[in-house]
Amino acid sequence: MDLTFHCPHCQQELMVDAGAAGQAIQCPTCNTEITVPVPDITNIHTHNPIHDSAAARVEHHFVVPVHEGPAEVLIVKPITEEVVAVEGPKKIKVRIFRHTDCVEVGHDRYEEFVAAFLNKIGEENIINLTALNYTHIDIATQKILTDYAIQVIYRG
Ligand SMILES: [Zn+2]
Repeated sequence: MDLTFHCPHCQQELMVDAGAAGQAIQCPTCNTEITVPVPDITNIHTHNPIHDSAAARVEHHFVVPVHEGPAEVLIVKPITEEVVAVEGPKKIKVRIFRHTDCVEVGHDRYEEFVAAFLNKIGEENIINLTALNYTHIDIATQKILTDYAIQVIYRG
């Protein structure tokens, strides 16, 4: 936060960091050593009309960016996602869908998952599809089972 006050010698309006309150500084205009006043909000508001309007102006100056800030962030978010999607040259990525990972409570959604993914990346970005077999231990039966997976190499 900045502190605005007037030099008691030359009346130059000076703006300093609030942390400098109470410290001695040299006025850049008249070179007189002056003490930065400690802010007293009640004093500013009951002092003279010039100070009142100055305070109002300063307050207005602060209020505008504060209100714009969060609004900007809200607008920026979707733009950022768009930028990410369009960003630079696409990288080659690999995704492996294991059949067992796509079975939810006995409901086999493997084809649905793979199809949704392929549609999402788009046909033109698919470089290679490879069928794989893998073994895993079935928790229920404690048997080693062979299952299938698909490896997708794509640009994304
Ligand atoms: Zn001065």
